[in-house]
Amino acid sequence: NCKVAFKKQFNGKKYNWIQLAGHAGRFKPGEREGFILKLMDNLERNSLQILQNDILSDFVPKIDKILLDREDENYYTEMQDLLYSFTNPCIMDIKIGVRTFIIDNSNEKETKPRNDLYLKLIEVSPDEPTEEEHQLKAITKRRYMSWREKSTCSATLGFRIEAIKKNQVKEKEFYSVKDKSEVMEHFKHYTDDKKYILKMYLERLVNLKENLKKSDFFKSHEMIGSSLLFVHDEKKANIWMIDFGKTRRLPEGTHIRHDVQWEEGNYEDGYLIGLQSLIDIFQETIEH
Ligand code: ATP
Ligand code: MG
Ligand code: MG
Repeated sequence: NCKVAFKKQFNGKKYNWIQLAGHAGRFKPGEREGFILKLMDNLERNSLQILQNDILSDFVPKIDKILLDREDENYYTEMQDLLYSFTNPCIMDIKIGVRTFIIDNSNEKETKPRNDLYLKLIEVSPDEPTEEEHQLKAITKRRYMSWREKSTCSATLGFRIEAIKKNQVKEKEFYSVKDKSEVMEHFKHYTDDKKYILKMYLERLVNLKENLKKSDFFKSHEMIGSSLLFVHDEKKANIWMIDFGKTRRLPEGTHIRHDVQWEEGNYEDGYLIGLQSLIDIFQETIEH
């Protein structure tokens, strides 16, 4: 049930890659061992390029060449396959920050009321639309995305579980996971409550926080809709920052804290609110 999945053989070593969350059709197997190809996005590539030489370099996938695929005529970025060194890993995609979307006002698809988003909304929450929205059978993207923030723990905890893959099973519907105790249950299940795995994750999160404080990149960018990719197998656990498609350099002279709520125009993303909640919840999960 994965959107994209591929198996490839390099020098006798098989590697299995799967896509957990995100839009379909943006990934392909790499031509080089340990690399995948992600559809080129100039802004994302710029961010990753800066990050390769930032103090956060160890927390992001390595990138390399830009390749043109002669078949689909698209450009792709060579990107380190973060699953490569694991054996049959469990994977979790956590979308981090209190704000998870940007509306492109020049794009009608993003500003006009849409029936597809109305249908997605009532599938999960039939009572949510107003009378008017019911009549129109359409809602705007802003309306849909703010509902997603409020109906999940994004708004309160500063992160939400996007998807989990465990034992070949992928779970995606975490719409209703709202409070700390529910999240804890999912983390326990995800790690089989193995303390040594939980501790490795916690250590990595604390380490990430320390590095973010010192990072020039983090000081100068707002990070919207970015994820932390959790990966573990029997032996090891690791976490990386991924998905910089909606990461933007702040206007000259603008400074943000990353640990306060977003208000129209303040550029805050709440990245550190999410990270701190994750640290607290992993800590508690270990203690319980
Ligand atoms: P979105 O629609 O969220 O913007 P996207 O197309 O930008 O999605 P990502 O969010 O970057 O894609 O990644 C989607 C999924 O692909 C992740 O949840 C993860 O499972 C997988 N993935 C992304 N980057 C890597 C990587 N470097 N190594 C291994 N898996 C990855
Ligand atoms: Mg994503
Ligand atoms: Mg993206």
